[in-house]
Amino acid sequence: MNRIQKPKGTLDILPEDIGLWQYIENAVRETARVNGFSEIRMPTFEATELFCRGVGDTTDVVGKEMYTFIDKDGSSLSLRPEGTAGVARSVIENGLYAGAMPLKLYYLSNFFRREKPQAGRSREFWQFGTELYGSSLPEADAQVIMLADSLFKKLGLKKVTLRINSIGCPECRPSFRRALLDYFSQYESELCDTCRERLQKNPLRVLDCKSPICSGYAKNAPKTLEHLCGNCNDHFEKLKKLLDDCGIEYIVDPAIVRGLDYYTGTVFEFTVDSIGAQSTVCGGGRYDGLLSSIGGPELPAVGFGMGITRLIQALKDENLVPELKSGCDIYIAPLGESANGFAFKLAKQLRDEGIAAETDICKRSLKAQMKYADKSGADYVLVVGDNEIAEGVAELRDMRSGERVKVALSKEAIIEKTAK
Ligand code: ATP
Ligand code: MG
Repeated sequence: MNRIQKPKGTLDILPEDIGLWQYIENAVRETARVNGFSEIRMPTFEATELFCRGVGDTTDVVGKEMYTFIDKDGSSLSLRPEGTAGVARSVIENGLYAGAMPLKLYYLSNFFRREKPQAGRSREFWQFGTELYGSSLPEADAQVIMLADSLFKKLGLKKVTLRINSIGCPECRPSFRRALLDYFSQYESELCDTCRERLQKNPLRVLDCKSPICSGYAKNAPKTLEHLCGNCNDHFEKLKKLLDDCGIEYIVDPAIVRGLDYYTGTVFEFTVDSIGAQSTVCGGGRYDGLLSSIGGPELPAVGFGMGITRLIQALKDENLVPELKSGCDIYIAPLGESANGFAFKLAKQLRDEGIAAETDICKRSLKAQMKYADKSGADYVLVVGDNEIAEGVAELRDMRSGERVKVALSKEAIIEKTAK
């Protein structure tokens, strides 16, 4: 019979890998907590229109990569390709904009984009994202940037580069847009099909195109920083000062424009060169116009999305994957029928006390049980046979050091001897 395989570009996260994921998730949650960000969980699918209006239908994410389907009632739904639009919808729908400000939210969720699968790029992927609402000041940009930076530092990453830029506000955008249009129009016939199509509608997108010809021309295109209005310029200068004052290193990189339409003003990326072509582990910026564009009030916002699989790759490349414990705290190996029942009950009593205890549930030989305990990474093994039960004492083997000690067959004595 044909075996069914997982869909192209998806990932099985197996038990052997889950320790690393949980290690990262714990670091994420702790970093969010000390920064005062609360978790929010959104639906996996939303009205397609949310992403068309919120993210923009000239973006690759919405225009080309979204998983869209028509529901039985005829409505168009899409698997979430990113988190910011869904959070914005939730902030409006639940009236969170009327609560305490600033509103600081984070998510750790899976997203879906129909991209060409390759290293660092899958069709279902995970992001840690933050959204800070209610402050238009550079301090808010700095806090969000520093949050990402502190997570990288917490995980021990050294080879991460912060790149910042400003793409201006609705006031400075028209002059920049005109300059871009004039510049790219000279090469219009050479641009890729998508860029030719979206040049008039949104010339900024050409700057973010990955095709070699478009990105080649993008290198010498007009720079946003040369077109900033006074306010945007001040904002950007203050942000740089805040980062300088806090000892956060960065590069001003005019090539950072971000692939989604909602960005205004500050944009940034954290890149890791060692992880190859998909080097951006985190991308974000300010999106002051997003909430109002989907029917909410005017509310400034700034945030980022961080790719977990790329973060994992970066940790592996810098040899920062910690030794994580697998296997139980104690494996109780029964010898014989009556010992079976004893071990079964003792294991349960230990589990009730918070000790990860296992025993034989396959009726295997002692040799096979020892092999299992060793392979699965048990810390201790306790062998109990009829004699041990009669005497009330058994041998406890420390599987790391090989040391053997006698222990009374009571849960209290076992807990004491196996305590770390
Ligand atoms: P890229 O330019 O690499 O396509 P993007 O601009 O599309 O990234 P965002 O939408 O800003 O990315 O998402 C933020 C982060 O999420 C990225 O920096 C990356 O780390 C991660 N990410 C985005 N798309 C994928 C994907 N298909 N597979 C794995 N991680 C992804
Ligand atoms: Mg992309």
